[in-house]
Amino acid sequence: MASADLEHEHDQEHDHGDEERDAQVEARRRVALAQIRQYPDAVLRLRANTVDRFDENLARLADRMTELMRDACGVGLAATQVGVLQRLFVFQPHGATEATVIVNPELVSRSGETDLADEGCLSLQGVHVPVERSTAVTLQGVDVEGTPLRLELDEYPARVVQHELDHLDGVLMLERTDPESRREALATLRHRPVL
Ligand code: ZN
Repeated sequence: MASADLEHEHDQEHDHGDEERDAQVEARRRVALAQIRQYPDAVLRLRANTVDRFDENLARLADRMTELMRDACGVGLAATQVGVLQRLFVFQPHGATEATVIVNPELVSRSGETDLADEGCLSLQGVHVPVERSTAVTLQGVDVEGTPLRLELDEYPARVVQHELDHLDGVLMLERTDPESRREALATLRHRPVL
């Protein structure tokens, strides 16, 4: 009996710890989201410029974006989303152990095969819309030090990078979805409470 009670107490303590951790994760997520440009911020519509300085500032920006993406519980983040008009984004699909930073990415090939799936966006909170994307893509670019980088991706990672690449051209998933989903998304965004 005594041991059962102890165990019970222990469980309660454990639950309490989980709750506290969840609350911390949620608090961090909100702080991160507050630092990410939100629709209809005009910067999200601008095309970012080619990066030509591979210095400490660029490395710091990439680190900051990676941290924000993780804190915000996102899988990708483009520089335009933090108000910086430079062509780079970070991504880390769920299950990936490391984030990848790609600078000056170019889409060199995409599969003819496409797939329709719901997407979310850290700049369009509370909205998910179906978007058709190529199932496989090849991207070429460089890393933060300017070293050439070639990414051959398929499935979910391929989707993520196509979404992020769009951000660098000022294109949002709202332009990639069907008219009805777009209308619904805009209605949700209009009625979104201000955080
Ligand atoms: Zn996005």
